[in-house]
Amino acid sequence: MPTPQMPPAHPFDDDKLHEECGIFGVLGVQDAANFVALGLHALQHRGQEAGGIVSHDPEQGFNSARRFGYVRDNFTSTDIMETLPGPLAIGHVRYSTAGSKGQTAIRDVQPFFGEFSMGGAAIAHNGNITNANALRRELIERGSIFQSSSDSECIIHLMARSLQRDIPARMEDALRRVEGAFSVVAMTRTKLIGVRDALGVRPLVLGRIGPEENSGWVLSSETCALDIIGAEFVREIEPGEMVVISQETGVESRRPFRQKKPRFCIFEQVYFSRPDSILGGRSVYETRRQIGVELAREAPVEADLVCPVPDSGTPAAIGFAHESGIPYGMGIIRNQYMGRTFIEPTEQIRNMGVRLKLNVNRALIRGKRVILVDDSVVRGTTSRKIKEMILDAGAAEVHFRIASPPTAWPCFYGVDTPQREKLLAATMSEDEMRDFLGVDSLKFISLDGLYRAAGEAGGRNNSCPQYCDACFSGEYPVEPADMIEKGFKLKTAAE
Ligand code: SF4
Repeated sequence: MPTPQMPPAHPFDDDKLHEECGIFGVLGVQDAANFVALGLHALQHRGQEAGGIVSHDPEQGFNSARRFGYVRDNFTSTDIMETLPGPLAIGHVRYSTAGSKGQTAIRDVQPFFGEFSMGGAAIAHNGNITNANALRRELIERGSIFQSSSDSECIIHLMARSLQRDIPARMEDALRRVEGAFSVVAMTRTKLIGVRDALGVRPLVLGRIGPEENSGWVLSSETCALDIIGAEFVREIEPGEMVVISQETGVESRRPFRQKKPRFCIFEQVYFSRPDSILGGRSVYETRRQIGVELAREAPVEADLVCPVPDSGTPAAIGFAHESGIPYGMGIIRNQYMGRTFIEPTEQIRNMGVRLKLNVNRALIRGKRVILVDDSVVRGTTSRKIKEMILDAGAAEVHFRIASPPTAWPCFYGVDTPQREKLLAATMSEDEMRDFLGVDSLKFISLDGLYRAAGEAGGRNNSCPQYCDACFSGEYPVEPADMIEKGFKLKTAAE
């Protein structure tokens, strides 16, 4: 029987990098799945194609629901939520993952579930296992039967082969075989488990919910999802740490990986995380505003107005305007309700493209020299259209200032990026990009400037970078083994 599939969530938004997943788990509150649904709703920016929740109830055992579409359209109905009882639940939202990009099948929607001799376990992950192809081949040769194309199913099969006596220990065994950049939430009948890879590339935080004498535990990709359920932020799960949480014993910290120097994804600071989240003890909003300040110092230009490309360019535009002294204004207005309105757009609607999502505030723009601040340039297609809209509205000049360095390399760590040849910065110099976009000037923040904005006063430590910045630098902290096998060429000494 053919598996149901869903078209991409953003028919007009193919010019951004997309974070591929958000994960959330709750232990120790009545009807935990309701809290998970709210948490996933707050993480919806990390994945809009599909979502899933698994819960456990001491009497009714494990239950699960997986659906295409937004959390608010699926996990709010009593019909679904009543099928997910119990004090323990985990959930996942996804954009799309390796293996089924743009054609999500319901069998690829997480969390995944495995039944072991000592009980069941469910698992969901955010990120990418970079040796998943090799592991999958090996497991299939040894008799495993895969149900999906997702990386995290490898972890379930590796756990099934472990000889350890309990599920957390089996998971530790499995994780030792896995390479990559990922965060995991998992659950047994009584335990909530969280893991970050050795470099801590993808985020995961721990929170508490409820009164002190009877509080539950929460794991979340971002702190903004703790806020929505009234949970208190406790701490980040450390790079390379596995936490095994139960109501009886609290949080037990284990170390399944060899210790390495952390390399958190710097693009979380620029774009993926919500601005109301806290990363590494710093407000994401404040980091983005500071990027604008650095950008104004590095690439000043005479102009009349600083405008963000909404919404992600807004904090950097505020910082740019503040530092440069040039007035800030909302020259582009975003239609907040685009969502999934046109799942299968006609050619005519598709041609309207960006105009369906963004509109120019003509009265403000006319006759002005405008600085547009955006978070990134990926293919450049949207930037070109925005420039045309601004000029059509009567702007005298258009200057682009970009709050990230040129994106010249694909990400293999759980972010949907085009192939390298499709990235504008992979094939053009900054001047060539300026001409291609047809703007009066184009400047990107430097890597050092970005690091300074993220709190590294001395900039990037080139011999031992503090973050993963592979999509800008081409220096991959974890070798993308599967992609190299498929022909991807790493940066050469000459590049
Ligand atoms: S390659 Fe870029 S997007 Fe991917 S994890 Fe590294 S910094 Fe983040």
